[in-house]
Amino acid sequence: MSITGKCAVITGSNSGIGLGVAEELARQGANIVLNSFSDRPEDHALADKIAKEHKVQAIYIKADMSRGDECRALVTQAKEALGRVDILVNNAGIQHVAPIDEFPVEKWDQIIAINMSSAFHTTAAALPIMREQGWGRVVNIASAHGLTASPYKSAYVSAKHGVVGMTKTVALETAEEPITCNAICPGYVLTPLVEAQIPDTMKQYNMDRETVIREVLLQRQPSKQFATVEQIGGTVAFLCSPAAEQITGTTISVDGGWTAL
Ligand code: NAD
Repeated sequence: MSITGKCAVITGSNSGIGLGVAEELARQGANIVLNSFSDRPEDHALADKIAKEHKVQAIYIKADMSRGDECRALVTQAKEALGRVDILVNNAGIQHVAPIDEFPVEKWDQIIAINMSSAFHTTAAALPIMREQGWGRVVNIASAHGLTASPYKSAYVSAKHGVVGMTKTVALETAEEPITCNAICPGYVLTPLVEAQIPDTMKQYNMDRETVIREVLLQRQPSKQFATVEQIGGTVAFLCSPAAEQITGTTISVDGGWTAL
């Protein structure tokens, strides 16, 4: 079954991986709901561009993924606007780096809410719709940090491990239905989230950009190459393809060998 005409909701998709996933699903014929917490003309313009380029329907819905009610409203509004919700990609995420005893409480709460609890709320809202339609794919964008840890990323690592656990639970709860739930665990992908870490890391280590990328960011990525948003998009599309019908409750690493170490 192709995904042409299906409706994909991608949280946190006005930049980076989310936008890359939206582009790939649109290229394969899916209608698209883009999302973030802002409501700028350029957010809506992104949806218009995708619609025009790929001859699909694409809209942008503002919803703050740190708020449970807005996560659920995103799914409801997507169904109202495009008539269905077949594919849910839980991608919104933020990062903050600090030792645990200095970790700001509000940052902890925000990361747990956006990176983990949002997937609980959107999945809870989407499953009844998928059941009624008789088909559904939930893809959670976790991280290599959903499988391993790094110092100073307690909230992020906790949230991503939580997402991997939730993925397994949802898969078991839907195992006998034509619905699957999986997590993709990217290593480093060069997106605005990672780009923002480079200047500070250059200062911290007194290194130039290229050295920071190779020796610090990609230190644990044996391929010494960033994964790309196109590769993550392609992996989501694979999980929505017939070949993946029996793949559920698992993680797919796209990390250049990081978790093989
Ligand atoms: P990014 O900063 O480019 O994108 C994050 C997206 O989330 C943006 O669209 C942003 O607007 C959105 N967002 C943030 N807070 C939100 C909120 N409260 N409500 C709604 N949307 C919100 O970062 P990215 O690298 O593309 O990250 C996307 C996902 O991939 C995240 O979950 C991240 O943890 C995960 N990830 C990224 C990498 C990487 O190396 N870039 C690696 C592993 C996992």
